[in-house]
Amino acid sequence: MTEPHCIFCRIVRGELPTKRIFEDDEILVFPDINPAAPVHLLMVPKTHVATLDAAGAEHERLLGRMLLLAPRLAREQGATNGFRIVINNGPDGGQEVYHLHVHVLGGPRPWKRL
Ligand code: AMP
Ligand code: ZN
Repeated sequence: MTEPHCIFCRIVRGELPTKRIFEDDEILVFPDINPAAPVHLLMVPKTHVATLDAAGAEHERLLGRMLLLAPRLAREQGATNGFRIVINNGPDGGQEVYHLHVHVLGGPRPWKRL
């Protein structure tokens, strides 16, 4: 289920351009438009879940799959010497886009921020 005006739902539906680095029936991975590191991927569920707070037991498998996919994609995209996973949650967590996403950051340091 997607939301009409959510920016990441619009990317999932193909209404906004991106490079689809990986996708299957429940996950889409694309580059962050304002990268904070040489490798900066966003992993999103194809269904609209606003925050990690809003995720429930029904998302357990999906969240596990996203985490287990991250090392492979980080490596394939050039982060061969380690990476960082970030999930911002809510206003004080610095979340700007309210569609759950996992940042995958890697590549040679120094990074711009985060
Ligand atoms: P957060 O602060 O965790 O909500 O991060 C949102 C991220 O989405 C930021 O790093 C933005 O650069 C990124 N972003 C926003 N719009 C787009 C877009 N159209 N395509 C790719 N990344 C985006
Ligand atoms: Zn959405």
